Parts: sequence; C-alpha cells; structure tokens
Amino acid sequence: MSKADKKKAPDRMERIVNLAKRRGLVFQSSEIYGGLNSCWDYGPIGVELRRNVKEAWWREMVWSRGDIVGLDCSILMHPRVWEASGHVSGFTDPLVDCKKCKSRFRADHPDVLAKHAETCDGELTDSRQFNLMFRTFMGPVEESANVVFLRPETAQGMFVNFGNVLDTQRRKLPFGIAQQGKSFRNEITPGNFLFRTREFEQMEMEFFVKPGEEAQWYDYWKKERFDWYLRLGIKPDNLRMREHESDELAHYAKGCADVEYKFPFGWSELEGIASRTDFDLKQHAEWSKKDLSYFDEESRERYVPYVIEPAAGADRATLAFLVDAYDEDEVEGETRVVLRLHPRLAPVKVAVLPLMRKDGQPEKAQEIFAQLRPHMVAQYDQAGSIGRRYRRQDEIGTPFALTIDHQTMEDGTVTVRDRDKTSQERVHESDLLAELLRRITG
Ligand SMILES: [Zn+2]
Repeated sequence: MSKADKKKAPDRMERIVNLAKRRGLVFQSSEIYGGLNSCWDYGPIGVELRRNVKEAWWREMVWSRGDIVGLDCSILMHPRVWEASGHVSGFTDPLVDCKKCKSRFRADHPDVLAKHAETCDGELTDSRQFNLMFRTFMGPVEESANVVFLRPETAQGMFVNFGNVLDTQRRKLPFGIAQQGKSFRNEITPGNFLFRTREFEQMEMEFFVKPGEEAQWYDYWKKERFDWYLRLGIKPDNLRMREHESDELAHYAKGCADVEYKFPFGWSELEGIASRTDFDLKQHAEWSKKDLSYFDEESRERYVPYVIEPAAGADRATLAFLVDAYDEDEVEGETRVVLRLHPRLAPVKVAVLPLMRKDGQPEKAQEIFAQLRPHMVAQYDQAGSIGRRYRRQDEIGTPFALTIDHQTMEDGTVTVRDRDKTSQERVHESDLLAELLRRITG
C-alpha cells in the first residue's frame, strides 16, 4: 500500500468498525493481550443489537406461528452424530502450507495465494483436506476414545431430537423445529469483521414436510426469509436471492439458494435455504438404529419426512443490519453519523434528556426514565449541549429522544425527537409509554 493510499479517508467498512469500537458495539476479543484473530466481543450496545436480531427471528419463526417449536441443544454431542451427518469424512477444505513462512491457505482461493506470492517466495506443500471441526476431549483422559467435537452447525440437534419432539408435542406434518446457538468452524481464512469467524451464532430451522410437497415449501421459505430482512429495514437494492447451480448442490439436495447482502466487501451469503430431502433423518436412523419415520394418520402411510432448512447467521445478520443502517448526513450544518436501525432492532429505544441541569428538570427526567426502564432499554444523559446528546444517540441508532424542558414543568408534556426526521412533537408524560411502544413495535 502506498503512502498516498494510507492517508485517504477510511472506507465505509473501516468507518463502521471504528464506530463499533468507539461506541461499545463490538470489541476485539482479548484486546489487552493483543487480540485473538477473528474473535470479537459484543459490547454493551452491540449485545442489545444482536439480542434484538435474534429475538426478531425467534418472534417470526416460533412465537408468531403455530407450526414451529423451539429447541436448545448442547454444543457437545455424541461423536457418532458427526459421522452420520457426514462431517467427519466430508466437512473439509483443501489446505496448503507455505514451507518457508508456515502460513496456511485455502488451496481453492487463487487470489489469496497470489497475494502471498507477492511477499514470500516460499514453496507450497501439496494440497490436503483439512477438517473444519474443532476437536476436544471429554473427561480427564486425553485419548482418542474421548474425542468430541464442538458442533459445526446447530441443525443436527434438531434431526437427532426429531423423535422426541414428535412424541412429546403431538405435532402433525408439516411442522418445524427452530434453534439458535453457537457453532464452531476452524476456518482457514476467517475475516471481514463479524462476517466469517471461527465461533459464531446460528439461527436455524428444520421444516419437516411430506415427500412430494418439498418444492412448494422450498419456494415458500425462500420468500419468507427474504422478506424478513426487508421488513426489518434492509434496503431492497442491497439484497438478492442467488439460486445455486446444480454442480454446487450436495448430492442429496434438491435445491439451495442464498440470501445475499451487498456488503462493502462484495455480495456475500447471509442465509441459505436448502431442500435437503430425507437425507439427514435417514442417516441418523441408519447410524442410531432408531426409527425416525412419521405415521401420517390421514393417508395411513409411514414415511421419512423431507426437510426444508433456512439457516441464518446471527452475527452476519447483525453485521448486515449495522452496515445497512450506517449513514452520514448533515443536520444544522454539521455532519452526523446515524444508524438508521429499525426501532425493533435499535439497541437503545429511548434517551431521556433534561434540557437544563436546574429547575427540577433532572429530577423530572429521572422520574420518567424510571417509569420507562422496565419496558424498554433507555438511557439518561444530562452531559453537554442538547445537540451533542442527540448526536451521541444518533450514533447508536436510538430512534427516540425525550427532552424535559421548562414547559414540562408547567404542563407535563415532553418533546419526542424522531432520529430520522429530526422533528419534534410534544407528548404528555401520561401517554409516553403507550406512544413509544406503539412506535417501536409498529
Ligand atoms: Zn510464505
């Protein structure tokens, strides 16, 4: 990189990473020790954002429907699970080592290899298959009989519990099982901030259908999942659906499509929707010797259900919402950074600001702050000019700011400032809670 390049203004992605650090959204993991590559910690503001993303998904996929139930499986599972699923033999990337600098690269990423060749003349080893699962030992003895894996996906937890859910929940097809949780993949080349990390959180759902009905449900879930991002404010121009070519499909799959987002580093996968046939349940039935079929009372047939799987990443979705919301505009002649997050996703819903630090205004503001806190994430701020305080809230995407002023003390109304319109209106304090809840969930 030339000196001139280094001096130029940080690009959009850098500005977002800087904001994330400066305002407590995302910190580098173990930063005081120099950081741990590709691991990130969500700060006080970021943890609220990601929780809101996950809750928006859960609300949509579980609570608001009658045909999907939730599950929360352990991360460590029986090692046979990963043999049955194909992960032990097939979950690999081709890897090459540089004999000189010892760096490791994906053999199928020519651009990365070319970049390395610019700075190092080391010879590369032959390509070999590298399994992406993290291995560890269960119990005190480190021997091969005790090897377990950190799960590389949450999906298998739903498949191995299919019978339990069926027996206990009196479900009829079609129905789904949803789960959110951490997964681990020992990626050779992680990167792009939260986009590709070795530890990440998934939001997956397995939808079980009668064989023959998979095509209609595949189309249904592609549309549902695409629209979810739009409903939460992603700009339509930044979202697209990419259907996989037949040579990209796993041998058992009948179809697979990615919801892709236009990140500053290019179009990249946010979520995959896959038509997986009966492959997973049949594999587990064979390896466990347990019956995982379903008896259809209407048609009096017994069969193994087919599966449609929408699999999303909580961190990727959080990054996409963050990137999409990031904006810079001008208010009263000053440039401001603003996160135009959907109110449902905003980490802080409302800021409570006394205009002056006198005349009983701070006390009144504290009273309103205490009333709102049990219902929504709120912040109180009395430091600095009112304009500065608005800017601080704009930077973390707070949709509403209340100002308690002279008039509040006389008639009980406060001003409600809208982050995007920067307009203000007066609302009586007795109507505040209902009004804010209506605007947040509306
Ligand atoms: Zn090298």
